[in-house]
Amino acid sequence: MAPTLSIPPLTKDLSRILIDADTISRRVDELAHKIDEKYKDLDEPLILVGVLKGSFIFMADLSRKLTIKHIVDFIAISSYGEKGDKRGEVRLLMDTRENLADHHVLIVEDILDSGNTLSYLIKTFKSRGVKSIETAVFLDKPERHEIDVPVEYVGFEIPDVWVVGYGLDYKEQYRTLPYIAEMYPKK
Ligand code: 5GP
Ligand code: MG
Repeated sequence: MAPTLSIPPLTKDLSRILIDADTISRRVDELAHKIDEKYKDLDEPLILVGVLKGSFIFMADLSRKLTIKHIVDFIAISSYGEKGDKRGEVRLLMDTRENLADHHVLIVEDILDSGNTLSYLIKTFKSRGVKSIETAVFLDKPERHEIDVPVEYVGFEIPDVWVVGYGLDYKEQYRTLPYIAEMYPKK
């Protein structure tokens, strides 16, 4: 018997579904395939470093689609807007469990906005002597970039709107929606 999918309805905060669950799933397949191709000849495991909390669902789906040998790890950072941190300021709140030195690393991030977070992480990991570093972001807001960051794998480009679902939150809500939804602009 086919499983019944229950899609939570939009609430009063959410204006429309931007990317539905099937489209997300197909795109994550494609990204996993590209990553598999790139690293298929690696003798050692690739270390995936997810940026908490927003990347946790993307990480879960992407890592389960990979056929290459890999290790899942996480970091937590705080960026502007949280606890009054200044714009552009990024702080490491929780480090990886793995020692990244001499390993091939793939950063897994929910969304590329100004680029401050990824630019900070790439710089930090390079200074630790990684063998190579690449980045996979689920969403990209090209209009918002302030810093040039090399990103090898991008799920979807989206306009400059606040989105939630598939790991992304608004005040810790909506992370578990199976789709990406756009919020009404805050008044
Ligand atoms: P950046 O350092 O690139 O400016 O910021 C990236 C971070 O901003 C993301 O990891 C995410 O936490 C947050 N962010 C940016 N745009 C959105 C959005 O539309 N929705 C949510 N939930 N978070 C966002
Ligand atoms: Mg994030």
